[in-house]
Amino acid sequence: MKALRCRECKATYPPGKMSTCPKCLGPLEVEYEYELIPRNPAKFIEKGFTDLWRYRKLLPLKGSSQIVSLHVGLTPLLKAQRLAEKLKLKTLYVKNDAINPTGSFKDRPVTVAVSKAIELGFKAVGCASTGNLAAATAAHAAKAHLPCYVFVPENLEPNKIAQTSIFGANIITVKGTYDQANRMAAEAADRNNIAILNVSIRSYYVEGSKTTSFEICEQLGWRAPDHVILPMASGALICSLNKGFQELVKVGLIEEKTPRLSGAQPAGCSPIIDALKRAGGEVIPVEEPKTIAKSLAIGEPGDGIYAVKTISQTRGCGEAVSDEELIEGIQLLAKTEGIFTEPAGGVTVAALKKMRENGEIEKDEDVVCYITGNGLKTPEAVTHSIQNALNRLKVA
Ligand SMILES: [Zn+2]
Repeated sequence: MKALRCRECKATYPPGKMSTCPKCLGPLEVEYEYELIPRNPAKFIEKGFTDLWRYRKLLPLKGSSQIVSLHVGLTPLLKAQRLAEKLKLKTLYVKNDAINPTGSFKDRPVTVAVSKAIELGFKAVGCASTGNLAAATAAHAAKAHLPCYVFVPENLEPNKIAQTSIFGANIITVKGTYDQANRMAAEAADRNNIAILNVSIRSYYVEGSKTTSFEICEQLGWRAPDHVILPMASGALICSLNKGFQELVKVGLIEEKTPRLSGAQPAGCSPIIDALKRAGGEVIPVEEPKTIAKSLAIGEPGDGIYAVKTISQTRGCGEAVSDEELIEGIQLLAKTEGIFTEPAGGVTVAALKKMRENGEIEKDEDVVCYITGNGLKTPEAVTHSIQNALNRLKVA
């Protein structure tokens, strides 16, 4: 790791505990000595690691002794032939991050951020979360034997609360939205020297997410796909994936063609999609998110403007889908590919379907659909729909 660089004013700083630029308050991003990274895949991949730490040369940790790992990453990239046929696509892959240790993609940033927190000398960790991050943080904190404080909005799905509490985390339930929980977490970080992973050491945290791009390229034989569709909440994920693809080009591990990146949001909380479709691209916060896709219910997306920029720069697109459409998305993925995803994955599949229908994705593009979480975390999303279907049958 070389430095932290401000995304706005481009000032650089030595790597430390900061995550925003003291000059302009812009977000800081990790930079590496790219000229020293081997462009030969066999040399790039760290020997002896079978999880995402095999990409350690482009991750922000100095040594390997602080690594806290539950074996995160290296999840399958599955060819989704039947779903492709339904969507009239030639080639479609599903990147299935539902099978990470705590059942979601959040294990990626967390294994990196908890390890980094230990290296930086923090004695406790925490996060503000819509559920998946809480469970991932709690599990890794348990493994590292660190106290853990998670701030969550009160209306979370019961399974996500149970999954977090089983690891012994302190759960602070905030009356209000995720955005209010996030503000409380930031205050706690300032007062108590807790590494709030997605706030106080966010620059390192987001580095874990980009490993999805590394894996997709490696699994395709060191090339990028034409198009990746993913869910958006804070907007950080799409920016991280973009950084991952750009870095592989920079070090010469893939050719100079990076994918179109497109985002999906639930219609009840779609500030990034709305901004994308609005002239000027201004992100206007959603005060009261209303969707069953609670993991995507972030009304004030911290990286919203950067997500809009990423979509524009990569010639991607965005779609919002209703709760009804997202449930159909969950069912479609389950019935065609045998994968049960939580509502965020249903949003992604439903948005992909819309993008095909309105011609935003061409038939010949090879597409990766990023499934970020396991359906067992939120069974109520579909039990309701099954119950409704049964009720309708009774009436008939
Ligand atoms: Zn700056």
